[in-house]
Amino acid sequence: MAWDFTTEPEFQELLDWADSFVTNKVYKLDVLWPHDCYRPAADLTPQQRAVIDPMKAQVRERGLWACHLGPELGGQGYGQLKLAMLNEILGKSIWGPRIFGTQAPDTGNAEILAHYGTPDQKAAYLKPLLEGDIVSCYSMTEPQGGADPGVFQTTAVRDGGDWVISGQKFFSSNARYASFFIVMAVTAPGAPLARRMSMFLVPAQTPGIEIVRNFAHLGEPEDAGTEALIRYDNVRVPASAMLGGEGDAFGVAQVRLGGGRVHHAMRTLGNAQRCLDMMAERALSRVTKGEPLAAKQAVQNMIADSYIEIAQFRLLVLHTAWQIDKYQDYNRVRKDIAAIKVLTPRVMEAVGKRAIQIHGALGTTYDLPLTRMFTSGLLLALADGPTEVHQTTVARQVLRGYKPSDGMWPSEYIPARRAAAESELLGGVSEG
Ligand SMILES: Cc1cc2nc3c(=O)[nH]c(=O)nc-3n(C[C@H](O)[C@H](O)[C@H](O)COP(=O)(O)OP(=O)(O)OC[C@H]3O[C@@H](n4cnc5c(N)ncnc54)[C@H](O)[C@@H]3O)c2cc1C
Repeated sequence: MAWDFTTEPEFQELLDWADSFVTNKVYKLDVLWPHDCYRPAADLTPQQRAVIDPMKAQVRERGLWACHLGPELGGQGYGQLKLAMLNEILGKSIWGPRIFGTQAPDTGNAEILAHYGTPDQKAAYLKPLLEGDIVSCYSMTEPQGGADPGVFQTTAVRDGGDWVISGQKFFSSNARYASFFIVMAVTAPGAPLARRMSMFLVPAQTPGIEIVRNFAHLGEPEDAGTEALIRYDNVRVPASAMLGGEGDAFGVAQVRLGGGRVHHAMRTLGNAQRCLDMMAERALSRVTKGEPLAAKQAVQNMIADSYIEIAQFRLLVLHTAWQIDKYQDYNRVRKDIAAIKVLTPRVMEAVGKRAIQIHGALGTTYDLPLTRMFTSGLLLALADGPTEVHQTTVARQVLRGYKPSDGMWPSEYIPARRAAAESELLGGVSEG
């Protein structure tokens, strides 16, 4: 019997340490510097470095740095299932992923550099990224459409030994802090969509790159926005800047997005659990009409539904992570990856909204972390592709296991089944 929900005691010890470290130490960074966690190390103040660097060192000493990576890249090679358990803890905190070296979008960008990068590209970009010294930006979505790569217009045109990139990109996260951008551009306009684009590594200082605007979303001060509209105006890079082969951009993007979506789900689990923890504490503390909120059935319903939804979500996340470890093939697990991509914002929004409701007016303010957590649900319904696109993936994958019924009636049509049963079991003689 191979089914088992227990965690190895040695790994549980590490999880317990991470949990207490995040709750007792890293949470403090969240309230001191909530908008600085994407800044590269060199951009942090000496006071911030004096606090943050020793924390990262402690994580390394515990062997918990960059746990999404294999040992050849400085990680532990724990695999996705163990990562899911750790990421649930880290996802509760704004700074958690940064202090443990698992910050998106750098994690996904590191994965594609590891997978497709040449030795020179790895030395220039991957090494400092893994050390946590620099941050990176993934620049794919365009202003005229993100969910349909068929409308992308940014081009890279061959000019002698160089490529010249021109166009606009939208919502390129962290461009303002990034040392380099990974840019998806059309290199063969007449080719079928799957082979039309290539990926380029572009240093941030390359002439012709203009950050037109940094968009802030709900919950962020306007001047702290990190989602960039970027203009690439004849940005010249050498042929060696191509990541993967010519026309490979879709394959590169899939490697990045498959893991990235699962990791977002793992972290969101932590956020949703934290909302439930807050909800429960408030329900037991707040008294109205002579009894705690926890005694009201409507409030109990909210707590019960939140627990149930989180428990279902956790099982699907863990099962998906387990499948990735087992098959080592994101494509084979794409139905469940798409399913948790759909579930992630749904659970976060539902649980976050209930947590705000139970906290009353206070819940809607910046004096609690709830609006930020709730908003993360709205954002995750779009980041890495909108919910509807992933629903289509789930449905297509589910439908692959079925075929149309043979005749006019569904195969479950009872009169036809009864006739067949009479014929097979009763020799064609109907009862009574
Ligand atoms: C927080 C955040 C961070 C992001 N970071 C990055 C980043 O670092 N780099 C990057 O390149 N991009 C990034 N994005 C952009 C993201 O990938 C896009 O927002 C997403 O792909 C959707 O594109 P769009 O916003 O242009 O919406 P559209 O493509 O205009 O879609 C709008 C809506 O139309 C509907 N829709 C679209 N297509 C379909 C369909 N096939 N079937 C049914 N309904 C559909 C959906 O309701 C969808 O929400 C980020 C987005 C967010 C919110």
